[in-house]
Amino acid sequence: MLELSLVMVKPDAYSTKKLGTIISMLEANDFHVVGIKSVNLTKELAKRFYFVHEGKEFFERLTDYMSSATVAAICVEKDNCVTDLRKLIGATDPAQAEEGTIRKVCGMTKQQNAVHASDSVENAKKEIRFFFSDIELYSYRFIRY
Ligand code: ADP
Repeated sequence: MLELSLVMVKPDAYSTKKLGTIISMLEANDFHVVGIKSVNLTKELAKRFYFVHEGKEFFERLTDYMSSATVAAICVEKDNCVTDLRKLIGATDPAQAEEGTIRKVCGMTKQQNAVHASDSVENAKKEIRFFFSDIELYSYRFIRY
């Protein structure tokens, strides 16, 4: 089924110019980019985005990090998008990620792991709404070439 999901390119990957590599890997794996923007998250916005991790030992470090520099939000569309995207990004720790995954290619550490991707269809809807309004998104399902 055609679904949307949310990729966030984290400060490590954005600042080391991996944005192009990440978009290329998404497109090469049949994900359509239907929305994209650069954002500077405040600490408050980073805390809101990652609220499910509130209370965990890495929460302060993670939200400090995510609000330290520019990130890119990318909305992608594909059949089975959420599951396929989680496969393409790989394990949280780049050292554990499979060859050919975005985190293996672009990630550095467990925290600086290049990208975030939504972990469920429900969370994808919330995360897309966090970054995008309706007029900032387009669906490839309406394009006929
Ligand atoms: P994922 O991003 O793979 O879904 P989680 O939801 O468990 O992973 O964690 C969210 C993010 O928090 C991770 O992508 C990573 O940047 C950071 N993180 C998770 N665990 C740790 C940790 N032990 N130390 C530092 N950062 C962590």
